[in-house]
Amino acid sequence: MAYTSKTLPLPLCPSGCNPPPAPARSVPAESGSKAAHSGETGEGANVKSDCFDRGELRFNEPMSAHVSWRAGGCAERCYIPTNLPDLAHYLASNSGLVHFVGLGSNLLVRDGGLSGTVILLHGALNHIKLAAEGLIYAEAGVSSPKVSSFAARHDLEGAEFLSGIPGTVGGALAMNAGCYGSETWQRVEKVLTINRQGELHERLPHEYEIGYRHVVLSVRSEPASTPHSSLLTPHPEEWFVAAWLRLQPGAGAASKQKIKGWLAKRMATQPLTQPNAGSVFRNPPGDHAARLIEACGLKGLTMGGAQVSEKHANFIVNLGQASASDIETLINTVQATVKEKQGVELVTEVRIVGKA
Ligand SMILES: Cc1cc2nc3c(=O)[nH]c(=O)nc-3n(C[C@H](O)[C@H](O)[C@H](O)COP(=O)(O)OP(=O)(O)OC[C@H]3O[C@@H](n4cnc5c(N)ncnc54)[C@H](O)[C@@H]3O)c2cc1C
Repeated sequence: MAYTSKTLPLPLCPSGCNPPPAPARSVPAESGSKAAHSGETGEGANVKSDCFDRGELRFNEPMSAHVSWRAGGCAERCYIPTNLPDLAHYLASNSGLVHFVGLGSNLLVRDGGLSGTVILLHGALNHIKLAAEGLIYAEAGVSSPKVSSFAARHDLEGAEFLSGIPGTVGGALAMNAGCYGSETWQRVEKVLTINRQGELHERLPHEYEIGYRHVVLSVRSEPASTPHSSLLTPHPEEWFVAAWLRLQPGAGAASKQKIKGWLAKRMATQPLTQPNAGSVFRNPPGDHAARLIEACGLKGLTMGGAQVSEKHANFIVNLGQASASDIETLINTVQATVKEKQGVELVTEVRIVGKA
């Protein structure tokens, strides 16, 4: 792979212990773990890994606990790193499929679950600081609303729109999340990424193809012989671990006022008391998915435990016991009906992954 940006050395453990040499790449992730030896691999079984590898490895982890729809199957394995050096070491010393997940606020995991290892960043890479005047450094696990309030507290303007987007910085980068006329990548000065080997790279925005809910690393690379992730991330073998966001000097009080107003607007127009994943479909050029869905009379349509929200037609809510299959069937039905009655092919904004 030809990287165009800075390649950085592997980070060291903050507590001072050096990473042990990586075992052969063919060693399965949990082969040396306590869980593997004890046979403790039932649903929710977990193990604290030793020494450098101090993150938490779980087996058959219900992804319903990690996605905002509160539905769906299990991840075969789930790793929660303690920090960036730990994540780098985990990737370098374990082979197989990995999937990066933030707060799961744009994700549906099918009921058959996900094979491989889900890496959960929220609560792990959660460091945020002022890196320089007007420049915020935020790790990928920091929530977007936290970036918004941090900026307001430091009298910086331009991150208010992130206040109502309930995901992480990593998810916002991967999705180019946005609203009220602003998008994440308009604020990005550079990003820090990690690859399947645990190597870090600083990258600049011009290295990505960026559009409406669309981000793809445009660096040319040889296709991997085996794909390492089934999620549609900007690159199948490289993920975001931090970003530097450039903001303008502003007034904290004005930013807080703007945030308050936008959150109130969301409360009034979105079904925020029921599990959902935000807008299910992208807006087609020059139109709104919600308008098209409503025009087809689909508000309130229910399949199993999933319902097209009565409050906002582009939201699907979990009434309590929805399966991922209920949600996906409803998505497909809405798509087919809008195509038939309005002649418009709606494209999903939410990412649907895993086995049925
Ligand atoms: C109530 C509600 C309102 C919403 N409003 C908006 C809105 O106004 N605007 C908007 O754009 N979205 C909105 N969303 C959708 C969602 O919050 C955003 O897409 C958000 O940025 C997703 O972040 P996440 O951490 O939850 O990502 P996840 O759902 O966990 O993941 C989404 C995708 O990003 C990838 N990903 C996650 N972390 C990384 C990483 N570190 N590196 C590489 N890839 C990664 C995942 O693999 C997956 O493909 C809303 C959702 C809800 C529930």
